[in-house]
Parts: sequence; C-alpha cells; structure tokens
Amino acid sequence: MAGNAALLARRERLLGRNMSLFYEEPVHLVRGQGVWLWDDEGRRYLDCYNNVPHVGHCHPRVVEAITRQASTLNTHTRYLHEGILDYVERLTATFDASLNAAILTCTGSEANDVALRMAQAVTGRTGVIATDHTYHGNTAAVSQLSTRMPPVGGFGGHVRHVPAPDSYRPLGGVPGEAFAVSFAGKVEEAIASLQASPHGFSALIIDPFFANEGFPDLPPGFLDRTVAAVHKAGGLVIADEVQPGFGRTGSHMWGHQRAGFVPDIVTLGKPMANGHPVGGVVANIDTLNAFRKAFRYFNTFGGNPVSCAAAMAVLDVIEEEKLIENARTVGAHARAGFERLSGKHALIGDIRGSGLFMGTEFVLDRATRDPAPDLATRIVNAMRERGVLMGKIGVHQCATKIRPPMPFSTEHADLMISTLDDVLSSL
Ligand code: PMP
Repeated sequence: MAGNAALLARRERLLGRNMSLFYEEPVHLVRGQGVWLWDDEGRRYLDCYNNVPHVGHCHPRVVEAITRQASTLNTHTRYLHEGILDYVERLTATFDASLNAAILTCTGSEANDVALRMAQAVTGRTGVIATDHTYHGNTAAVSQLSTRMPPVGGFGGHVRHVPAPDSYRPLGGVPGEAFAVSFAGKVEEAIASLQASPHGFSALIIDPFFANEGFPDLPPGFLDRTVAAVHKAGGLVIADEVQPGFGRTGSHMWGHQRAGFVPDIVTLGKPMANGHPVGGVVANIDTLNAFRKAFRYFNTFGGNPVSCAAAMAVLDVIEEEKLIENARTVGAHARAGFERLSGKHALIGDIRGSGLFMGTEFVLDRATRDPAPDLATRIVNAMRERGVLMGKIGVHQCATKIRPPMPFSTEHADLMISTLDDVLSSL
C-alpha cells in the first residue's frame, strides 16, 4: 500500500492526472495469465472486466505470433506484405458480403475518426448522431460525440444526441415495439434537425450492443426502424464494435449480427489483437475508395506485420478454443447465478447482457427503480478487496460491467457470484 502511494505520486508527477485509475485503492499489476492477474505483492485477482486480453492474458499462441514476427520483420506500412492481406481476408469473411474491405488502425478512436470521414466522403455531409451516454474515443473529432467527456467549448453544430436506450426504464415507459418506435422517432427528429442545418445528415454511429450505455436487453429488431430511417435519409450507419465484437456476446461474432442489421461501416478495436494496439474500419471497397478520393490517408503503424500476426492469432484461438460457444454457455451459467442472487438481495434490480458481457443494475428500491450509483461504487470496490475485478457503467452508473477474458469458465463464474453474494450480504 505504501508502495502504491509512492507510485501514485510518481504517476501524477510524470503523467499528470489524465487517465484515471480504477478502484479507491488502485491495483498495481505485474503479471497476468488466462483470466488471472497478480499484483506486486503476489496477490491473485480474478479478471472479470478485461475485454482487451480477449483470448486470455498472455495467451501463448499470441505471444508466439508476436515474437516470431517481431524477430523476422516489423516495419511501417509502405511495403508489400502478405500479413495484412491474409488478415483482412480472414476478418472480412466473418462479415456480410457487402463489408469486404478494411483499413487497419492502432486504436478504436482512430477507427471511428476514419469512419466519420468515410461517411463524409460518401454523403458529402458532416452531421452525426450518437447516443447521449456513449463513448467513441479520444480524437478531436470523436470526442465531439461523447457526453461523458464533453469537449471544451461545447459540441459542434454538426452533432445531435439521442437518448441512450435503457431497457429497464424504456423511453415512453413501455418496452418492446413501442420502445423501438420511440427510439427511432428520436433518431428521425435528429435527422430532420441536421437536414435543416448547414451540416446535413451524414451518419448515425452506434454500438449495436450499447455497451457504454449499460448494455440494455433490447428486443430483436429493435434497431430495424432506426436503420431504415437513416438509409431513407441517405445517411450511413456506423457500428462501433469495439466492445461487443469478436464473439463476446456468445451468439454472434459481431454485435450488429446479433441485433439483426447490416451496417455500412464497422469499427473495431480493443480485443482485436489481445492487447497489442490494433483497430480497424471495415466497409465496402467502394466506400474505401470514396474515402481515398476525398482524403489522403496514411497510418505508420496501423496493420504492420507484427500487429497483423497478433490479430491473426486471436482469430485462430477464438476458433480453435471455441470461445464463442464458451461465452454462450458460461454466460448463461453466470446469468443463472445472478438470478439466484437477486432472489436473496433486493438491491439487484435488473440482470442483463449476453454471453460474457453482462451485469446487474443496483437500485435503492425495486418498485421505483431508483438507481444506486454510490452503492454500485462500494460493491465494485469491495469485490476488488476480495480479489475479483469488475467495472461499473450505464446511464445511471449503477450497473456492474462484467466482461472477462473469453476463456472464463463456470468455476470462475461461480467464484465471481459467491464473492458478490458475500459482498452484498456484508453491506
Ligand atoms: N468505441 C468504444 C465503444 C469504446 O468503448 C472505446 C474505448 N473505451 C473506443 C471506441 C475507443 O477506443 P480506444 O481507446 O482504443 O481509442
């Protein structure tokens, strides 16, 4: 702990106060393997949060791919290399046939930045719609979309926010079809407002799983009307798959496939190369070519040989270890555990999610559904004290965010549930 205080002071002196840390008592990690992490005192933590080491911390297959390629060749992206072609071929094969080409980047922010400009290149317009509790990254352009971290000087006139879907407290008070109609109505209003502005309407950008918004449980086809409204207005749908992608939801490889629509542009990041910084933008080749006509684009590191080797190894492991199926069965097992807990603890107001992306929403009162963000903070910190790492998210900041490495097993899920039971009993 004393060591943590010294590290914190050093961090603040050298890095400033940017990039805030998790937990009242931050964790000083020194090693990871599979779903486990160890701190500097040798204490082990169950990682229920990290979607970046998607196939498990330090997966030997990914480590080997990085080592092999780094000791053979790594260079910027101005030369011919098969690595990027083999990877993009393999990646695009997991999408609808219309999404047949890609640009690789280093981060999800960059991918979204490029996607906005692609939409601009195709439509000739700049107006963008996002939800009011989203996060799409940190570049000057995409930070314009995030109400969590509003830009200095306010949002540009080209941005409109629509209310994030909240299945526990649906817009208009009614779930199901009426909720979908209300959401689409808000998007239509935003489209009309942009059309009446000098910016025009270019794109709707959404995470099809609404991860940062608290991953509401939405009825099948929830986004159908919205997607139709965007296309009717000549706009593009950008699906930000940074969080739900690569099979995490246990039912599909991609969140938009689960939601049942085909986007015009897809952006990727976080889990793509198990922690090696790789992101991507997938679209039709015509969209990529329109982008090339409108903007000059070059990315020194995006899609370099080492990044592609790491990203390819991730696809191999997802397939060989049947991690999507694992997400489905272990996710269902964990959900059943949460259901049992909710019979015992009235604090649990809602349980939602899919596969290995789930959480519970804590409320002060089940009847009024009053959010309990302070309690959620206490719970997440108490879990950390007991060696289980999870996060907190959502419109009301009272939902736990559970998104472990994909080789998470039923035993790990049981440990998570029993620890949460202890914590809730101790409150
Ligand atoms: N999109 C979403 C949905 C995200 O959650 C994030 C990061 N939390 C980003 C984009 C940005 O990705 P990066 O941090 O790699 O730039």
